[in-house]
Amino acid sequence: MTSDVTHIKHEDDLVAFLEKEFGALFSERDSILVKMHMGEPGNRTHVSAPLAKKVVNVLVSLGCRPFVFDSPVVYSSPRNNEAGYLVSAARNGFTRDSLGVPVVISNRSETFNGELMAYELCSEPLEADGVLLLSHFKGHICSGMGGAIKNVGMGCMSKSTKGAIHTGGEPVYGDGCTECGACIESCPTANIRLDRGRPFFDVSWCPGCSNCVISCPENCIYPKTAKFDSLLAEAATIAFGKFGRSYAINVMQNMTQLCDCVADSGPVLADDSGFVCGADMVSVDIASLDILEQETGSKDLFAEYNRKSSRLHVEEAARLLGRDMEVTIKEIG
Ligand code: SF4
Ligand code: SF4
Repeated sequence: MTSDVTHIKHEDDLVAFLEKEFGALFSERDSILVKMHMGEPGNRTHVSAPLAKKVVNVLVSLGCRPFVFDSPVVYSSPRNNEAGYLVSAARNGFTRDSLGVPVVISNRSETFNGELMAYELCSEPLEADGVLLLSHFKGHICSGMGGAIKNVGMGCMSKSTKGAIHTGGEPVYGDGCTECGACIESCPTANIRLDRGRPFFDVSWCPGCSNCVISCPENCIYPKTAKFDSLLAEAATIAFGKFGRSYAINVMQNMTQLCDCVADSGPVLADDSGFVCGADMVSVDIASLDILEQETGSKDLFAEYNRKSSRLHVEEAARLLGRDMEVTIKEIG
């Protein structure tokens, strides 16, 4: 695995660069799954269909057989079943006609055991000759930031496993509360209250981000299964290890506070900064965070809005893969 990544500032330079990268990685007739989020109905800041078409066309020009893929979501949404997601995707511009390649939504999966729990991995990414992660780099309420690791660790899981990762990160109170209020401060959904010397959680409004667990100085809150970041990273690294050849592109455009799963993903927090391309999901996420820090001067811009560190799940994925957080970034443009 190489930790070299390339930062391409301008879209005009992207195609020529990808032609070389994909040409060296993929072969004629390869089936290439392009994993991307096609946006909740009403969301206007997800990776656009014209950009996806540009990337897909590079694969087509090399004689590959790409298809765009996502799995249904677990929450209440038109995207929580295959047919509904296809309708939503079409409304956001993603159809076979517009892209020139199939759009596949599927919940078919195979189960693999991790250290923390078992995960149902979507079958299509495991069966394809190659996986291209085309990920929107933006804020996320549970992981601080959502990029390539999130696109795999949540996006390549079945509905059931998506739910289990969120539920697994929900808080359980143990003992020893000093009523310091840190957990209340940390909660992005404001659903913790202190009463009779202990915290109470409204689990109907809890996405299981585990930030209260992390923030408690007395260690008196613990997650139902494991911290959200640990589950997300374990799911992602198990799946990544089972892909054939793979490549990752983080799109640093419309870097909103929240993710593409909501119609209104909040304010755009930084100027567009192009694309980060590389061989693996961890390197492109580290590089994207480093670039954002350099360009905004903020150590963790998304955390300022979402209260949750953007780096925890990235650090955990790096640890699981036995690598450090160093990347070499080559600049184009
Ligand atoms: S897990 Fe996250 S959302 Fe749920 S109570 Fe804790 S801090 Fe709030
Ligand atoms: S952070 Fe821990 S000690 Fe502080 S109020 Fe919450 S549960 Fe109690």
